Amino acid sequence: MLVTDTTARRRKRKNGAKGRCFWATATATERVVDLDPVADQDAIQAYRAACRGTDDRRRLEQQGKRSGKSDARAWERERDYADVEWWTPGGGFGVIAQRARASGLLFPGDVVWVRMERDRVRELKLARIWRRAGDGSVRERLGSGPTSPLPCIPGEDLTLCHSCAVFGAADTSAGDAGKGRQDSYAGHVRFGAARSGPVTTTSVRLAPLGQPRPGMGMFYLQWRKDSPQEGRPVGDVASHWGSKADHVGPIYKRLAGRKYYWHSDPDAQADWQSAQLGGSMTPRYTATGSLSDDKGGMVRPAILVPKGTVLTARVSVDQLDPMSLHTLLAALDPTRVMRLIPGGEGRRVAVRLGGAKPLGLGSATPRVTRVDVGTLHERYLGGSGERIDWTNARFPGADVNERVGRFGPNLEQLLPILDLDGLGDQVHLVTYPPGAPWAFAVSDDPKDQDRFRRSFEFFQECNGARETRSTKPWHRLPGPTDGDRSLPITTKDKP
Ligand SMILES: [Zn+2]
Repeated sequence: MLVTDTTARRRKRKNGAKGRCFWATATATERVVDLDPVADQDAIQAYRAACRGTDDRRRLEQQGKRSGKSDARAWERERDYADVEWWTPGGGFGVIAQRARASGLLFPGDVVWVRMERDRVRELKLARIWRRAGDGSVRERLGSGPTSPLPCIPGEDLTLCHSCAVFGAADTSAGDAGKGRQDSYAGHVRFGAARSGPVTTTSVRLAPLGQPRPGMGMFYLQWRKDSPQEGRPVGDVASHWGSKADHVGPIYKRLAGRKYYWHSDPDAQADWQSAQLGGSMTPRYTATGSLSDDKGGMVRPAILVPKGTVLTARVSVDQLDPMSLHTLLAALDPTRVMRLIPGGEGRRVAVRLGGAKPLGLGSATPRVTRVDVGTLHERYLGGSGERIDWTNARFPGADVNERVGRFGPNLEQLLPILDLDGLGDQVHLVTYPPGAPWAFAVSDDPKDQDRFRRSFEFFQECNGARETRSTKPWHRLPGPTDGDRSLPITTKDKP
């Protein structure tokens, strides 16, 4: 009997009756198929890749990390079980079985679905209808050439990109493994620890954060008007990588871009929403309702420093040319480069520091307060060359253009994201896609707050799936310079 997870099942039906859940049973036959690590490797690899994205796998890795080094990888040696809860024969709700966690590893006695073709295993699945690994890797979608964001692999015949030339590049190719050499390139920059004066900290339990996995094609892939809508078969889900909507001709769509989070103070948001809607919203970084009991092991404690805390750090450089130093200073304090574009002067630009950025934490306004550099000539030969006032030096836009290509258009995209006021009057509407209207967020009932924070409904209802009679909606993630950065609140049960 193949017992599977029940979390996606509705406990109760709309009329209040107990929900139903089906598991597959079968009688084992005498037939034996050997899984051949070589001949069946495609099926094995696809199975592992699909399991790598599972919630089970994430939890196993996380539990491993928490339990300390001795037992961190126990799940790789033996099967790990999870309790399955459902209505019991006695009428209550509780543990009725255990299921093997989907770790991507197979142990003797594991039950999986197998599709055979000419005596070879073509497909392995944990359920008849199961997640599948998407097509078109990130690497394929990043493109190639001098502007590609793929990492530089240092070597004799390669000019490093500017970023690697400043911060260093690791040779991860292992091409010369065992030969006692590698082609890494050391960075020129070292960061010291950032310190504050005495502060009073607050302990919180952070709302759950999954690992970022770019599975949601709707947000992570470029969406173009010319993506084919016709000819998509029923069941084709546009948000899946490799969907029929994911091609332009034979070419997979590019990634939509690099991920950033809007600056939006979660405490100010909670105050504003509470006042507007009459109620009390807890800041979106805190675990509330059913999330606070942390069944899934995703809630973690965190210590917050108060707003306005000043952290001071020292950054040391060695053997940087002047242009590289300019770009490093601009990376630390982007106001130095934002001045170059229209409207870029005088904005409150902030970067992100620390964890839980998706929950709105860590907006920090950097300032370069002192630059103390000298030339090699000064150090070894004495005398004074031309001195530059680095603290206020102008950014050499033309030189940088020549080195890295036209970067002005990127600044125009970046400015609204780094600007603390970039969202204008939408600043208090930043949230993961909610599963209910905003009024639920300020409700006293934890169940309502749960509903508000149920983001998966949005992703289920807006995945562009082709159905027999209709196609589910699909929403592109609005870009930073779009006039309207909002998405509709979409739930399963229309409010
Ligand atoms: Zn590089």
